[in-house]
Amino acid sequence: MSRIFAMVGVISFLIVAEHSLAAPQNAVERKRVAIRAARLIDGTSETEIKDAVVIVEGEKISAVGTKLAIPAGTEVIDLGDATLLPGLIDAHTHLLLDMDGSDLSLQDVAMLQAVAMHSTAERALMGAKFAREDLEAGITTVRDVGNSGVNGDVALRRAIERGWLPGPRIIPSTRALAAQGGQFGTLIPEAQNLIEQEYVTLRGAESARQAVRQALYDGARCIKVIVNGTPADVTQEEMKAIVEEAHAEGIKVAAHAIGEKATKIAAEAGADSIEHAYVVPDAVLKMMADKHIFLVPTDGTVRTFVEMSMGTRKVSAEEREEFEKEFKPYVAEEQERLRRARKMGVPIAAGSDMYLSMPGLSRGQASLLVYEAYAEAGMTPMEIVHAATRNAAELLGMGDRVGSLEAGKLADMIAVPGDPLADVTRLEHATFVMKGGAVVVNRK
Ligand SMILES: [Zn+2]
Repeated sequence: MSRIFAMVGVISFLIVAEHSLAAPQNAVERKRVAIRAARLIDGTSETEIKDAVVIVEGEKISAVGTKLAIPAGTEVIDLGDATLLPGLIDAHTHLLLDMDGSDLSLQDVAMLQAVAMHSTAERALMGAKFAREDLEAGITTVRDVGNSGVNGDVALRRAIERGWLPGPRIIPSTRALAAQGGQFGTLIPEAQNLIEQEYVTLRGAESARQAVRQALYDGARCIKVIVNGTPADVTQEEMKAIVEEAHAEGIKVAAHAIGEKATKIAAEAGADSIEHAYVVPDAVLKMMADKHIFLVPTDGTVRTFVEMSMGTRKVSAEEREEFEKEFKPYVAEEQERLRRARKMGVPIAAGSDMYLSMPGLSRGQASLLVYEAYAEAGMTPMEIVHAATRNAAELLGMGDRVGSLEAGKLADMIAVPGDPLADVTRLEHATFVMKGGAVVVNRK
């Protein structure tokens, strides 16, 4: 999370030995299915192919191409005038957090309420709902970056892996590492115990190393660091220690950073991604391009911010205009930094940071609105697809398994009506979702 904190100006693998219990993936028989559609975007090439056929055997793709011969006895799913794509990946989720966006001045209170009044178990159950909604919208993999109580994201991942619940593949982070106070603002001493419910407080480089080791032991597959917190910042030494320790175990580091100082600390230390970076100087963007550090632009459009703020209330035209005026400069700034980042060659991975309720939309549907923000900032539909598939897969360390439609990859794919290269909002309307060879949605 962060968008709102920034907005209101508070600016704010590894492989842990696999748990013996975690074994049974959703059991898909090794049956063969052929999926046909008018078009296909494979996630790696710059053009789409026509008259596409994907052959799936068990949980994996065995062949992809134009007008492939379909072996006798194969079940055929014909999607007609649709476009097949790799399952979408959201590199910045908070499945165990839900806040009301309708009064942004109350974000600090909402955060306290989320942590003080809802147990991790309760939040994991809520996360189960959002995980299903993500999957049904076509998001087949997420990197969940904190705000999930004490290891609630790991519990949710394991429940999905065991087939107890439908949901995307989850890269969990456990609690985010942060300086004193996390993102809570200033709490009285009696309330400060809440901080460790949501964040791990760093107290120097050795404590940072220890925090990484504990996170891995707890089941993290990614380390999330709040470089600039509310109120305090992680130091350069702590950040370096975190990256060193995580990389030694083959684990990536996601750094929440906004502003010159924090983004520089993250980039210099060699974090794998910088989240948000609403404010970031060219010198840091250059370092990100040189070191192949991903930007995860958790952006919104004026329309999404206004609708979030209105909630379910009816507002007058004047009030709507007021909201628009309030958000326009903020959105313009986001767009300008995304344009600079692209020009300098910074790799982009898509991430929604959706933790606020969007009236009338599921969590998955709301999360896909981020693509509209990218489009408004000038990204082409193909760039957006790549940010949400192969780039995000690479950032998550899953590029060998997901993020493209190729023989040998897991059969995670979606289909959207028509051609998303002509209209990127088509990505918001998946009519077909498959995860690991199992059909989750088929609305044709
Ligand atoms: Zn976030």
